[in-house]
Amino acid sequence: MNPVLLPPRYNYFGVFLTFACGLCCSYCINQINRYSFKPRPQLGAAEWLTFFKRVQLHDLPITLQGGDPGRHPGFCTLLEDLPAEYKIDLLTSLTFDLAPFLDRVDPTRFRRTGPYAPIRISYHPRHDELRTLTAKVRRLRDAGFDLGLYSVRLPDAPTLLDEAARVFASEGIDFRIKELLGPYQGAIHGTYRYPEACLGKPSGVPVTCRTSELLIDPSGNIFRCHHDLYNAFQPIGSILDPELGLTDVFRPCDKHGLCNPCDVKLKTDRYQRPGHCSVEIRPAAQDAPKAE
Ligand code: SF4
Ligand code: SF4
Repeated sequence: MNPVLLPPRYNYFGVFLTFACGLCCSYCINQINRYSFKPRPQLGAAEWLTFFKRVQLHDLPITLQGGDPGRHPGFCTLLEDLPAEYKIDLLTSLTFDLAPFLDRVDPTRFRRTGPYAPIRISYHPRHDELRTLTAKVRRLRDAGFDLGLYSVRLPDAPTLLDEAARVFASEGIDFRIKELLGPYQGAIHGTYRYPEACLGKPSGVPVTCRTSELLIDPSGNIFRCHHDLYNAFQPIGSILDPELGLTDVFRPCDKHGLCNPCDVKLKTDRYQRPGHCSVEIRPAAQDAPKAE
């Protein structure tokens, strides 16, 4: 198998180990502009490990996410067997069994310097029970795991968010509230570099697009953006391909208008610098071959 070179411009390496999740949030980002729900096979820990060892990462952490990656049957094995030099981040709603995780995974597996915690736990007002979540967070923190809590600013849940902020502050736990993204109660929420790109209907505008993220679904397929990932639309490669190569290019797209808000929002990069957007979208005419 050849080594895989991550394009130096890439800012994020996201591995969607599983789409299984213990919650059912009404504003779930995985469901926005989604029209395909075919079940997908899930790779095992050994296949992921083989791929991780092929990738030349520069200084990017590998972020395990989903769904809730803790619900993947090979989750603990993967964390145990991955060599210590690989930096791992975890995005989780903590809807998995903590006992084997606490038993098998060394907290130093998630140690790294950075402006935010390597384990980022989501709190979902109206869908989570705050007291149960806080008890789980306490168990992890007391075992030595470096974690932070995140939520989204749901317009109809200010009291629940205030209560969460009070509880986590009293526990000395970093709690941050992010913008809600996408459609909710008749309005589209979020701050976007390309607001016209996520209105929920094809714009008909011919565009090309390039990403700064490596996004891989549970079956090992690689996609150019979250819209394509959630819809299993036109993978651009597979981690099972022994000759896989990653190319940092603009690709034509006829799904503009159905973009996932995650891809086209304005956010911070991994150094917490503001003004970043995961993709660059431009008129297709700009990439058309020039006449002789
Ligand atoms: S916890 Fe996350 S992945 Fe699961 S339903 Fe809620 S928003 Fe979606
Ligand atoms: S234009 Fe939107 S749907 Fe098309 S590749 Fe870019 S982010 Fe994805």
